[in-house]
Amino acid sequence: MTRSIPKQQLTDTAETVLERRYYLKDAEGKPLENWETLCRRVSNAVAQVDLDQPDYEGLADRFFTMIYYLDFLPNSPCLMNAGTDLGQLSACFVLPVEDSMDGIFTSIRNGALVHKTGGGTGYSFSRLRPKNSAVQSTQGVASGPLSFAAVFDAATETIKQGGKRRGANMGVLRVDHPDILEFIVAKQDQTRYTNFNFSVAITDLFMEAVKNDQEYDLIDPSNGDIIRTLRAREVFDKIVDLAWHNGEPGVLFIDAANRDNTTPQLGKFEATNPCGEQWLLPYESCNLGSINLGQYVKNGKVDWERLGATARLAVRFLDNVIDCNRFPIPEIAEMTQKTRKVGLGIMGLHDMLIQLELPYGSEEGRQAAAEVMAFVRTEAEAASIELATMKGPFPAYDERFNTYPARRNAALTSIQPTGTVSMIADCASGCEPYFSIVMIKNVMDNDRLLMVNKLFERIARAEGFYSAELMEKVAKSGTVIGHAAIPKRWQEIFRTAQDISPEQHIRMQGVLQKNGVDSSISKTINLPSSATQDDVRTAYMLGFELGCKGLTVYRDGSRDHQVLNTVASS
Ligand code: ADP
Repeated sequence: MTRSIPKQQLTDTAETVLERRYYLKDAEGKPLENWETLCRRVSNAVAQVDLDQPDYEGLADRFFTMIYYLDFLPNSPCLMNAGTDLGQLSACFVLPVEDSMDGIFTSIRNGALVHKTGGGTGYSFSRLRPKNSAVQSTQGVASGPLSFAAVFDAATETIKQGGKRRGANMGVLRVDHPDILEFIVAKQDQTRYTNFNFSVAITDLFMEAVKNDQEYDLIDPSNGDIIRTLRAREVFDKIVDLAWHNGEPGVLFIDAANRDNTTPQLGKFEATNPCGEQWLLPYESCNLGSINLGQYVKNGKVDWERLGATARLAVRFLDNVIDCNRFPIPEIAEMTQKTRKVGLGIMGLHDMLIQLELPYGSEEGRQAAAEVMAFVRTEAEAASIELATMKGPFPAYDERFNTYPARRNAALTSIQPTGTVSMIADCASGCEPYFSIVMIKNVMDNDRLLMVNKLFERIARAEGFYSAELMEKVAKSGTVIGHAAIPKRWQEIFRTAQDISPEQHIRMQGVLQKNGVDSSISKTINLPSSATQDDVRTAYMLGFELGCKGLTVYRDGSRDHQVLNTVASS
């Protein structure tokens, strides 16, 4: 390919991230790639799958254009590994944990193989018999889910994924498991289970019992015996209290997820991937990719045509990824090829809303977000139905169980955090509002660098209220609210995560889920440090009512080490 193309400018942060983690390197650690050649490697590898298709000509170029110009980015393992010997391209895995020594250690082994390739794993520990119950073969007593979770954690710690990513796990326990109280408080000590997110799988029955102030049963999964009953409100309050303390455990609404299980004939959902956006059956994996919505506003309006074209091409891309993926173990290859799930998501939702001049927390903002997500979902489904005609529906598709039209993929959409890929694209991550508008970065020799949000800077300069002094003030106060020099309208539009109420955060998650998300959404519900346990309780109740499939709350300052700080240091 010698044709020269307009160069895509990347930010310094993007270049640094790419150099550190994404570009292939020689033996001395010198990068062998740049952004353009990386995008060629990925596009060529993924287009190869269609070598025999009539529209193969030009497909790699179309993939390339979409990725290189940051309209759509696949998940990190795909960017890192496509076209390489490793060739493992998915971010999300769920592995079963059977109630036996063999089952537990098989799962640890399989998880290690997944981590080695850059994937994240979710486990449900709900099938394990409770602590201190009898073990027949040895006449001993069982250690219980939490002590085994510690072994999973230690294994992850040891692997470290060849230096590219730390391993990430989700650990799930059902609210009716006899060890649930121990699980809820397990991460109070923030030095334990550090490679895990913990979430309680909450059932509708439990939520009913909370509402009616009833007791509910704790059941030994190994024999179905009722071990004891607990007052649902006490357990719920405990979850709320711990989440209020440091954001864990999260909650997963497991029945809502299973109502949307498109292949119930193959099994039930027990767990999600580490960040919660993807429900998967045991041994399923899923590759993700996100459309950068900020790129789709033209003259103050959504460019529907171009957005639709990207959504359709993205589905083709993600579907192809399944066929050029090297899966770590045969069980995963088999399950993934049966259902062919993909996770098409979005990033830069906030960038889009800002350009449409709609506040993230407003009803109009939510309506626009819902409309866009519904549109992406509709286009994605149309593409998947077309692919089914071309290449056949997903193999587990069965008209007796599946009432929807034959399509290529059993699930199409989810919204991922885009923790790293949004840095490459320079946009707000996933469906989150910006965390800050102006940051001060401490660089060498006490020099301070003002980092101003690109859209805010553009608007402030165009409207004549930009000044270094004002930017300093915004950085120091951590918000655009209350600065007389900033017009009220823009103060509303540039509200950040902390300036948006918990209810508004949840309502955004709720409309996205309801209108266009098959699987789930990774989102943080930010609470001010002054928030009470009652606020967390209300948030969980609202999320449940709105049909969210999981929730993560975070009260400002509640963790020893907060990941994002408004005043960042390097
Ligand atoms: P990225 O932006 O790097 O593509 P995301 O932040 O969107 O990734 O995370 C998407 C999914 O990728 C997560 O839900 C999880 O399954 C997986 N993942 C994220 N970080 C890690 C990690 N350090 N190790 C393993 N898997 C990860």
